Amino acid sequence: MDLRGKDVLVVGAKRSGMSAAELLVRQGARVRAMDAQAVSPEERARFDSLGVPVLLQSPENFGDPDLVVLSPGVPLDLPLLESARRVIGEVELASYFLQGPTIGITGSNGKTTTTALTGHLLKEGGIPYQVGGNIGTAVTSLVESSRPEQWNVLELSSFQLESIEHFRAKIGVCLNVTPDHLDRHHTFEAYAAAKGKLFSKLGAGDFAVLNFDDPTCRSYAELSDATVLWFSTNCRVPHGLWLQNDEIWFDDLPFMLRSMIRLRGVHNVENAMAAALIANLAGAQPEQIASAIMNFPGVEHRIEFVRELDGVEYFNDSKATNVDATLKAIHAFPGNLWIILGGKDKGSDYAPLREPLHNKAKGALLIGAEPPYPYAAAPLIQKALEGAVPMAECGSLEVAVQHARSNAQAGDTVLLAPACASFDQFQSYEHRGRHFKKLVEELL
Ligand code: ADP
Repeated sequence: MDLRGKDVLVVGAKRSGMSAAELLVRQGARVRAMDAQAVSPEERARFDSLGVPVLLQSPENFGDPDLVVLSPGVPLDLPLLESARRVIGEVELASYFLQGPTIGITGSNGKTTTTALTGHLLKEGGIPYQVGGNIGTAVTSLVESSRPEQWNVLELSSFQLESIEHFRAKIGVCLNVTPDHLDRHHTFEAYAAAKGKLFSKLGAGDFAVLNFDDPTCRSYAELSDATVLWFSTNCRVPHGLWLQNDEIWFDDLPFMLRSMIRLRGVHNVENAMAAALIANLAGAQPEQIASAIMNFPGVEHRIEFVRELDGVEYFNDSKATNVDATLKAIHAFPGNLWIILGGKDKGSDYAPLREPLHNKAKGALLIGAEPPYPYAAAPLIQKALEGAVPMAECGSLEVAVQHARSNAQAGDTVLLAPACASFDQFQSYEHRGRHFKKLVEELL
């Protein structure tokens, strides 16, 4: 892609947009950036140092660029883009310049855990790699440090995949597809199709690592000639890793014991199996992989152990921002739960929580902004769980933690796994998780 002298507009002027602008400037483009919101003074200073003007998002400022590069947060169907000649995403832009084979990891839940674990397995296996994408470092930021013999391990969201054309992974991975982000993709089919783009771009000689237990993942096997490796926690697979009782098998050979995985929950067995298959395809030996899985401590805010106090264990799963992730967290514990739920509603159906909470929870502690806040989840959760589990309207995380401290007995578990976004009371799920941990650490 020759960008010299081209008029390129970057839409979305935060982290990914900044990285894209840097790459575009290095490639000799004339770059402008725009954002619907004001950028911070620090961000503006960085754009200034690149010589990139940052404009407010409007039809007047749009002009007639040769190319528009979208940050992952910007929807493709933005009316402003209708007249644009060519629109690509930040990941797509990176794909023209990135050296080395790429591993693309997607799924509704488990992406970050699997991406971090894959990086860990490659590191322990002595295989050159770098990690980026949705997990933190924008893919365009990886371009400069990329090398032909080094793997690029990328966490990719549906937003980053929906517009790819040139981007092609050597190994495409999908963990699961459950309804999420329907506010942006509108239908489940459109959301599944966005993730499917990763697989329709694979070809002969490439690999697809797919969850055999998930029908949407299974359908991705049909999208290309790539060699498929499966993983399943339910049944034997045609080729790949599968779980039987406490034993994980690789085809006909014993691979490792499930109990050697430190991460809690069957969903983490799936993540570990996916990462193991990837690392094996990238050249790590099975014994190395198994021992590296054993010493992986996990990722912050994902069923993270915080503290034990008077026989009560506290876990932070602030990253459970949807019902499915919360269900996985509940399944990861045998019972005696005090679960903290609530926050900003994303149009979710909370009814699937009824039965598992009825069976496993002693109480549900509801937090989050209250009506007239339009996206208050607590009243919806209350309605959905009525009669299934005792509930306490706590409002704030402070009150919920105190309530748990007063009511939980030795042997109980207090779990923050809210099934909602955090933005009503916090800046992000990380902020919410850190606040929870601080409150728990301060308990007397
Ligand atoms: P993502 O990056 O896709 O959001 P994370 O690894 O950050 O995924 O995990 C997000 C949440 O989803 C966590 O709260 C965790 O409990 C849950 N989760 C993790 N892995 C899986 C999986 N394989 N299936 C379902 N839920 C999962």
